[in-house]
Amino acid sequence: MALECPFCAQPNADHAMVCNSCARDIAIPASLIAERDGLIRKREAVREELSRAKAELEGFKIGKRRILLAKT
Ligand SMILES: [Zn+2]
Repeated sequence: MALECPFCAQPNADHAMVCNSCARDIAIPASLIAERDGLIRKREAVREELSRAKAELEGFKIGKRRILLAKT
């Protein structure tokens, strides 16, 4: 199984330390990869929360507008 470069996606030898193609360091410890995956998941959760909050805020604005219209 070839090791895919995380930067340029070119295949490299399994235990390559540096990418053949872009010459970047690709010997990333598994613990860092796991940490990165955890951060990506966390980021996705935060994004979802943000879009929910935005939708809620939008609903709140519309509701406020209705209240103002009802008063006049
Ligand atoms: Zn590369």
